Amino acid sequence: MKIGCVKEIKNNEYRVGLTPDNVRAYIAAGHHVYIEMGAGIGSGFTDNEYVDAGASLIDNAADVWHLVDMMVKVKEPLECEYPLFRNGLILYTYLHLAADKQQTDALLKGKVNAVAYETLQEKDRSLPLLAPMSQIAGRLSIQEGAKYLEKKFGGEGILLAGVPGTPKANVVILGGGTVGMNACKIAVGMGANVTILDISLKRLEELDNMFGAHIQTLVSNDSNVERVLKDADLVIGSVLIPGGSTPKLFKQKYLKEMKDGAVFVDVAIDQGGCGESSHVTTHDDPVYKLDGVVHYCVGNMPGAVPRTSTIALTNATVKYGLEIAAAGLEEACRKSEVIRSGVNTYAGKLTNRNVAAAHGYEF
Ligand code: NAD
Repeated sequence: MKIGCVKEIKNNEYRVGLTPDNVRAYIAAGHHVYIEMGAGIGSGFTDNEYVDAGASLIDNAADVWHLVDMMVKVKEPLECEYPLFRNGLILYTYLHLAADKQQTDALLKGKVNAVAYETLQEKDRSLPLLAPMSQIAGRLSIQEGAKYLEKKFGGEGILLAGVPGTPKANVVILGGGTVGMNACKIAVGMGANVTILDISLKRLEELDNMFGAHIQTLVSNDSNVERVLKDADLVIGSVLIPGGSTPKLFKQKYLKEMKDGAVFVDVAIDQGGCGESSHVTTHDDPVYKLDGVVHYCVGNMPGAVPRTSTIALTNATVKYGLEIAAAGLEEACRKSEVIRSGVNTYAGKLTNRNVAAAHGYEF
């Protein structure tokens, strides 16, 4: 199969769909790989590295779109890329179609066979192509939080671990899933006092088994949230109700009871956020202060570390991409319900129930 990858053109997107190592894997499996010149630069991969891996370099994106059977990307195509859609093209990328009717219609009209990273689900119901970004956002949340606790950024002016003879920072993590657990790991590693809250007792038990005496686990309810926020120096918002709207468990009224210069990193902001006072910010202008609390609410945190993010994402995507390339999409879907769960549009038809429901289309 002919596999392609173009440079991402979405604002501030520096990740890339294929690394030189991925190219090697596709070529070893007997495929041809076409890369737009400069596609990997934002993630630190040079054109020469792709050529050394066996890819053919193409000097404009449109030619790659025309040439290939499967396009591997990171973000959804932008409107200016819709005219490049064509019947039978396999598009393998993040799509988030439930929130994007215009793109859904463009993929259907173009008869593109679109496989969405975010819906591809393993048999244990895990989402293997979403997890790496949650891992990164979780780990990064503590790094960013530690930075904004510095005085010059409006923070309290404290070090997470303190030093002998000074108090350690109190880190509160709301939601102990993938983001929360990864935040916990870094906060514990940095020597902070960590309290983690979740509504799932089973999850709290798992966290307790993982981190033992290094953390305090608490059931998430209004009283506990209000109580722990009063002493918090850094708060991480990492709750998720799959398919539902994020509960606003961090109430605006709690801000006045918190320390001046405390920091709130609302990682869940991409789903609306778990703070009543949260609104989405960007990497260019990441924080704002409200009632003395610094808010960091960047919707695409992994974009801050594109090289790590690209490697983490493609470590996960390459396996399924190779399956699709080996068998063709139709046959791959017949063989694997995991691949089938990723397919959102096929031959001009919607193939994902949630996307259809979101747009009121028949399924
Ligand atoms: P996850 O499903 O692994 O974990 C969510 C956790 O929240 C679960 O353990 C669940 O029991 C818990 N929870 C639900 N309701 C709760 C409540 N009321 N109180 C406390 N805990 C509660 O999800 P995840 O992968 O960790 O993702 C968390 C959030 O981070 C999602 O909204 C995700 O979209 C977001 N995210 C954002 C970025 C970014 O760049 N901003 C990147 C990756 C993920």
